[in-house]
Amino acid sequence: MKIGIIGLGLIGGSLGLDLTARGYEVVGVSRQQETCDRALAKGIATITGQDLRLLDKTDLIFVCTPIGAIVRAIESIVPYLPPETIITDVGSVKGAIVAPATKLWSNFVGSHPMAGTAHQGVEAAEYNLFENAPCVITPIAETSPEAIAKISQIWEALGCKLYHTSPEKHDCAVAWISHLPVMISANLIHSCSEIKSTEVKQLAQALASSGFKDTSRVGGGNPELGLMMAQYNRQELLNSLLEYRQNLDLLIDNIEKENWDFLEQFLSDTQDLRANFLH
Ligand code: NAP
Repeated sequence: MKIGIIGLGLIGGSLGLDLTARGYEVVGVSRQQETCDRALAKGIATITGQDLRLLDKTDLIFVCTPIGAIVRAIESIVPYLPPETIITDVGSVKGAIVAPATKLWSNFVGSHPMAGTAHQGVEAAEYNLFENAPCVITPIAETSPEAIAKISQIWEALGCKLYHTSPEKHDCAVAWISHLPVMISANLIHSCSEIKSTEVKQLAQALASSGFKDTSRVGGGNPELGLMMAQYNRQELLNSLLEYRQNLDLLIDNIEKENWDFLEQFLSDTQDLRANFLH
């Protein structure tokens, strides 16, 4: 099977590494020639280039560009493809992508592997990024069952645990567990960087260890990705942020009132809830 990848960054590059390692012929297309050259040197693909026509004989294409470029990339490649080629994307938002992409190409199915690191670009690509990661497949009424089966089979072969749901439910769920945490974590970093006393700030920096590294990781990631999560999943992100703010106000209120019973119960609950939430 010949597989195409558009956008050879963290996700597209990691996908290419795993697919070539499993013996697939991989054709990689990216915006910059420098990225294409690095991808070839790293073994991400067997052929790379900037020209979308390189993808004309592929059986399956993964679109791995930033969210805002996905539908445009599909629009640009469809004139070169035979109708049996299956296209999927890896975008972190699905509602804004699946319907327009399906209109452009009936053999389209949306997917979203829940895997990533704080890094970006072709140099960030790594082997086995998708091993044991959840991957969401988001069909709509028009989606071809064959396309769903084929894409599911590839993600499973890369080690993903599959989930099937609608684009809308996907966007609602990821707002809570992915897009909201990016905003909270970014705000934590921002707030700490604005500590007023230089002496305290320097001490805080020196003392920041594993706890701060954990809580700041997603806020210190790819800014383009965070921005597009907000732009393309705006309403769901706003809903979760507003509910989060209510809970934050509740915490502030109880700490101001020295309501330690409330706080003790709250933290005892979250200790249990975290274990249950993450199974
Ligand atoms: P990334 O590391 O920045 O990679 C994106 C790559 O796309 C860039 O290296 C860029 O290549 C290329 N690109 C940009 N515009 C393009 C265009 N118009 N045509 C062709 N290539 C283009 O970002 P990423 O983290 O891999 O994210 C890619 C997609 O994966 C996004 O849709 C994101 O929502 C999704 N995703 C990300 C994560 C995560 O945690 N990072 C997890 C799951 C899904 P050049 O170097 O050639 O400019």
